[in-house]
Amino acid sequence: MESTRVQLEAREIPTHWYNIAADMPSPLSPPLLPDGTPVTPEHLSAIFPPAIIEQEMSVERWIEIPREVREIYRLWRPSPLTRAARLEQALGTPAKLFFKYEGVSPAGSHKPNSAAPQAYYNREAGIRRLTTETGAGQWGSSIALAGQMFGLEVRIYMVRVSYGQKPYRRLMMQTWGAEVFASPSQLTETGRKLLSEDPQNPGSLGIAISEAVEEAASRADTNYSLGSVLNHVVLHQSVIGLEAKKQFDKIGLYPDIIIAPCGGGSSFGGIAFPFLGDRAAGDRRAESLRCVAVEPASCPSLTKGRYTYDFGDASGFTPLMKMYTLGHDFVPPGIHAGGLRYHGASQLLSRLYHDGLIEAVAVPQRATFEAGVRFARSEGIIPAPESCHAIRVAIDEALKCKETGEAKVILFNLTGHGHFDMSSFERYFAGDLEDYDYPGQAVAQSLAKLPRFD
Ligand SMILES: *Cc1c(COP(=O)(O)O)cnc(C)c1O
Repeated sequence: MESTRVQLEAREIPTHWYNIAADMPSPLSPPLLPDGTPVTPEHLSAIFPPAIIEQEMSVERWIEIPREVREIYRLWRPSPLTRAARLEQALGTPAKLFFKYEGVSPAGSHKPNSAAPQAYYNREAGIRRLTTETGAGQWGSSIALAGQMFGLEVRIYMVRVSYGQKPYRRLMMQTWGAEVFASPSQLTETGRKLLSEDPQNPGSLGIAISEAVEEAASRADTNYSLGSVLNHVVLHQSVIGLEAKKQFDKIGLYPDIIIAPCGGGSSFGGIAFPFLGDRAAGDRRAESLRCVAVEPASCPSLTKGRYTYDFGDASGFTPLMKMYTLGHDFVPPGIHAGGLRYHGASQLLSRLYHDGLIEAVAVPQRATFEAGVRFARSEGIIPAPESCHAIRVAIDEALKCKETGEAKVILFNLTGHGHFDMSSFERYFAGDLEDYDYPGQAVAQSLAKLPRFD
């Protein structure tokens, strides 16, 4: 079999990020304060440095990647684009399946693509400490790594259910010098209140965000850093799709379908938005491109949520953003793809979905592990449970091609490896994994409490 890997040179790492806010078919609704007035840069300055605030609000199409950030990117970028030829064969599909592998970063996922610039801009602004939340530990380990690279202290609130499930992720963060606490914790008002109501509270990304923001807002030397959802994070992740475009150029192909898991939406936006930028620029090859965000059936923000203003965190510390949401205090079931247990989704992605420019599907947990194991047995790489969501849908699309005889080019984002998730695979092999029903009642209860600005 011919070589299936498309590699770029270090000098081909993109010099600019792509900002899809410049190409939105309809403008974004502004983030609001709880009283309904628009958020200003001053409001954000308690927790973010000026460069990040500027990026968050920017509608410039191209934003330069600082030289020092590109130097850090060189530790793992450019990431490979690989044709999954053995999986194609095993499936007997005429489709051409490609994956962009982000598990080559030191932290094992795409998340350091944004952690590095966030740490850099905070250091440039004179900040000494960062707080953040982490679900499965992917973001926490990324920011611990980036904090170490740029000389910042890092404190991490880790969702309690993951803290128990992923001890080695915690140790990774500690190896890179960060402090890690299970959330809800006794360190913040938010945590103490929730624990007094329910000492068994399993935590959620929303709760951990509240704790990290509460601490950052209360200290001048400390800022907050978010691993997904916000516009600047999606911007940084565009390096994935920009590289993929160069890689497809080298082999003279262009994707028909792009698939990524969707937690807050940064890996989806990262791989898909640069191609949607082609479409906005009138590139005929992108005319019929389909982009599919894949979410867990137990936390289906896009497919079952409401498009409305909601808080980014569980306690309502963040501004209100217009997005698809299940309600900010909805606590999703403890599925093993911890990085996908978020109640909302990026405003950019939400707007594109609302306007019908991208698609979303929700998949049950067991089917994602089945797909991940099949992938590992063909391609060797053991995927993260989050990434298994994209693999599930990529396989389903490839099997559709088998029926229709179409040789579609399918690209998916293999967002990370699963080396720290082996206990989840153990539960899958033992037949212990549950397919949770969609928790409709809990979602309805949470949505009923939302402030109404539509
Ligand atoms: C965090 C994470 C995700 C989901 O987050 P997004 O911001 O939606 O990309 C997906 N895959 C992996 C491996 C992750 O760590």
